[in-house]
Amino acid sequence: MLKHIYIKWFFGALLLGALGLSFAQEISWVYLIYILIIWISITAWGCFDIRSNYFVKAFSSNKKVSQNHIALTFDDGPTPFTETVLDLLEVYQQKATFFCIGKQVQKYPELAKRIVDEGHVIANHTWTHTSKMGFLSKRDVVKEIQTTQKIIERVTQYNVRLFRPPFGVTNPNIAKACSESRVEVVGWNIRSLDTVIASENKILKRITSRLEKGSIVLLHDTSLKTCNTLEQLLQVMKKQKMQSVTIAQLLNIKAYH
Ligand SMILES: [Zn+2]
Repeated sequence: MLKHIYIKWFFGALLLGALGLSFAQEISWVYLIYILIIWISITAWGCFDIRSNYFVKAFSSNKKVSQNHIALTFDDGPTPFTETVLDLLEVYQQKATFFCIGKQVQKYPELAKRIVDEGHVIANHTWTHTSKMGFLSKRDVVKEIQTTQKIIERVTQYNVRLFRPPFGVTNPNIAKACSESRVEVVGWNIRSLDTVIASENKILKRITSRLEKGSIVLLHDTSLKTCNTLEQLLQVMKKQKMQSVTIAQLLNIKAYH
């Protein structure tokens, strides 16, 4: 956790050393550029790969789980497709976690209510899901998180403590805002790419080829394509006697304050 602090000190010291040697004409200044490029690459990996735990500790799976459990997670809802997702989960008797956008909860409060009424977990996925997430000030990230906390609490009576940053982006501002808002960060270890890949079969294969107990699967309750893929996935899981549980159950943590 917070590996970036150690990396910052290490590369800071390395740069200073190299700068000194470069002034003394012991090494070429080109080495300074190399050091900077490596430092920037590590930081970019830390920002965009939530599994890196570079800026913030994020739960991405639980390989130690004893039963054949996984956690299906749905981002960016609620939308009218959430209804179909909930119907399918009910038919196959599976539980899931929904990382909801605050604005969408305001638009579809009855769906947010249905999520919790049917035993699934509702969680925070910011108010606007802005593509500028990585560039927001700490104050703005806090606002994104806390406004969503409030609307979810008003609609469902639950004060949520699980948060997933849009696109899995993390940085020092997001890390500080999470700790100030008292939320735990949840990532994934299987990205379905259901918003990117056009073929339902390809999405299904991508998931099932990686699926093993303890996995956290990232899906989006925002399209018919995902609903169709989900139905096929649930059939595969049934054959493999695999159960989807909520993030709280998979990780043995609390979903609400
Ligand atoms: Zn999202």
